[in-house]
Amino acid sequence: MEHVKLLIVGAGAAGLSAALSAWDAGCRDILLADRSAIPGGVLPQCIHRGFGLTAFGEELSGPEYTERLLAALAGTGVRLSLGTEVLSVSHDKAAVLSRRGCVSRVRFERLILASGCREKSIGALPVAGTRPAGIFTAGQAQEMINLRHQNPGREVLILGSGDLGMIMARRFSLEGKHVIAVLEQGETYGGMARNYHRCMEAYHIPLCCRMTVREIHGQGRISGVTAEHLDSGEREYIACDTLVTALGLIPERALVRELDASPWLSLAGNCCRVHDIVDSAASQAQRVGHEAGASLS
Ligand SMILES: Cc1cc2nc3c(=O)[nH]c(=O)nc-3n(C[C@H](O)[C@H](O)[C@H](O)COP(=O)(O)OP(=O)(O)OC[C@H]3O[C@@H](n4cnc5c(N)ncnc54)[C@H](O)[C@@H]3O)c2cc1C
Repeated sequence: MEHVKLLIVGAGAAGLSAALSAWDAGCRDILLADRSAIPGGVLPQCIHRGFGLTAFGEELSGPEYTERLLAALAGTGVRLSLGTEVLSVSHDKAAVLSRRGCVSRVRFERLILASGCREKSIGALPVAGTRPAGIFTAGQAQEMINLRHQNPGREVLILGSGDLGMIMARRFSLEGKHVIAVLEQGETYGGMARNYHRCMEAYHIPLCCRMTVREIHGQGRISGVTAEHLDSGEREYIACDTLVTALGLIPERALVRELDASPWLSLAGNCCRVHDIVDSAASQAQRVGHEAGASLS
């Protein structure tokens, strides 16, 4: 069975940063595994600028931020294994990996989980009706447009005004689609002010606060929703062919759910807690990586 000193699960900003810091701290046996064929986690699909002001002193796009980390990684002996999914981790410090249909076991001395987060789906809300085509999470829609060059729809309603919801409102507008509105259950937008100004105001996209979706209509493809004004209880029909949900992110820790707190296990980046800013995910991961690397050097 293969043996590594440090196994890192996930090569997003957090996993890459943790690996670099662990190497700098003196650990010379690091395996960085990611199930995706491309490194960077969520960054490659974030083609807008706004990454790296603290770390690099300039506003980079997600792909540019990834390039910076990969350039630094190239100067180390960290082994980056893409297309490699970590299927399980056990108490005896072993992990089961799957790569190109082959399953193998790896023993490790320390593990850093940097598996990111997942999006809440429409199932998280009490919404009546069927689930026809045309309903996407913001991350799914972003991946379709930016990485697959697909068109999710034309008449778009967005539910949730966190950063992801507002960024996707702008993205659809830039694609020439009609963003009907962004609905928000709170009193004001949920994300950063800079994203509200850059993504909503600048594109004249209406923000409808204290509103939510109560029912989905359509057979085959979504044709509209029943929305509710939360203060008055009034309901209205909004026609749309696409509903994009931006309902928040949940740290992804399924791999270690069954494990007790162990001195050999650390969490880095968005799987530890959701970071709105990549630099803060990266700097938390650097601290974790440094501590693990120093203990293994
Ligand atoms: C749409 C969007 C816009 C954003 N905009 C900005 C912005 O403008 N400015 C800014 O500073 N920040 C922004 N952020 C935040 C920033 O991108 C994130 O905080 C940061 O990139 C998270 O990094 P991470 O490594 O923790 O997670 P991720 O990037 O999600 O990486 C996790 C990685 O783990 C891998 N993985 C998971 N499970 C396994 C497994 N079992 N086996 C193998 N691999 C696994 C995944 O494939 C993935 O590559 C944005 C985030 C999003 C989603």
